[in-house]
Amino acid sequence: MIFSLLATSCAHVPIPEASSVAMSYYYTKNLLWILEWLFLFAFPFVFLWTGFSARLASLTKRWLLGIFLYLVVFVLLYELFQLPLSYYADYIVEHKYGLSSQTFGRWFSNYAIGALLTLGGALAFVWLFYLLIKKSPTRWWLYSSLLLIGIEFTLTFVQPVFIDPLFNKFGPMKDKHLEKKILELASSAGIENSRVFEVDKSKDTKTKNAYVTGFGSSGRIVFWDTILKGESEDSILFVTGHEIGHYVLHHIWYFMLYSFASTFLLFYLVYRVSNVVVHRYRRKVHFGDVETIASLPLLILLISFFSFLSLPLNNYLSRIAEHQADIYGLNLTHNNEGAAKFFAKIAEESLMNPSPGPLYVFFRASHPPIAERIAFANSYCPWKERSP
Ligand SMILES: [Zn+2]
Repeated sequence: MIFSLLATSCAHVPIPEASSVAMSYYYTKNLLWILEWLFLFAFPFVFLWTGFSARLASLTKRWLLGIFLYLVVFVLLYELFQLPLSYYADYIVEHKYGLSSQTFGRWFSNYAIGALLTLGGALAFVWLFYLLIKKSPTRWWLYSSLLLIGIEFTLTFVQPVFIDPLFNKFGPMKDKHLEKKILELASSAGIENSRVFEVDKSKDTKTKNAYVTGFGSSGRIVFWDTILKGESEDSILFVTGHEIGHYVLHHIWYFMLYSFASTFLLFYLVYRVSNVVVHRYRRKVHFGDVETIASLPLLILLISFFSFLSLPLNNYLSRIAEHQADIYGLNLTHNNEGAAKFFAKIAEESLMNPSPGPLYVFFRASHPPIAERIAFANSYCPWKERSP
């Protein structure tokens, strides 16, 4: 008690003010975020409401062929209409603010690979959902949730090993001295044989990041090469401690369980609401049952709508996990200065608004605002208080 009365200062890193460029970037990105969500609602809505969906679904009487044909047209049109917005948001704006290092060819080929993956995924799985709807009109939401959970679970293993490398090159860390320190830190936290990777993100962006992904045999800590080049060793080790925190505190597991639970709820709501909508507006949409592939835009619209509603809770839980990882990283490394300096530096370099508004935090912030993270790193060092 006595020691906590002594105001301990653990580091003295000032919280940076957002520059006018950073504020303009912040407003631009918020506007684009709204447009992206509007597109996500508008595209399936137009498909459905014009009756185009019903016409497309009635091209052939053959069940499986009908679904495949529908999906090819739907996904390709979706990617085509989304292209201008993605081009503007991810290529033009990022270049305008000097944050991107991507060539147009690389941006475009990544977009095309993403579109093909979406189409491949849709062709591989959507017919299964419609088979479930057909076989079990009242329980399909339950079986579909189980199927989706199975896919999500498999993806956690598959993505880091097979999908991420389609976009970037993952290799061992180039700086062997740093790699040794990182592995030492990991093993001091009880993670043996931890896999540490470096990814060539400098081809895409000037911003910095690191993350943990996968679990079991595909579990790994990945550093963007951008973070390894421009940061002090203290900062990098704090970031490592933060990522180890996610790992040790089982955040991947918790978020997976959370996502499983939300999947059941989501599909149940989609099941209930889609039946009501189809019965009420059957003349407008030109089909009378969710069993037909013509209902796909309706299901997607409802999924988008409920996903949008879940954003505040998702972000809130994510911010809690991020704060826990910050605490863990500081406890493990005692690098308050390195942590606070890192936050201040990335805020400036990536044009972040250190103190975003409450609406931004509510809907968009998966991490605590940078100002809060700096203030916390400046003030949290109980190990100093315990041993004066
Ligand atoms: Zn984190």
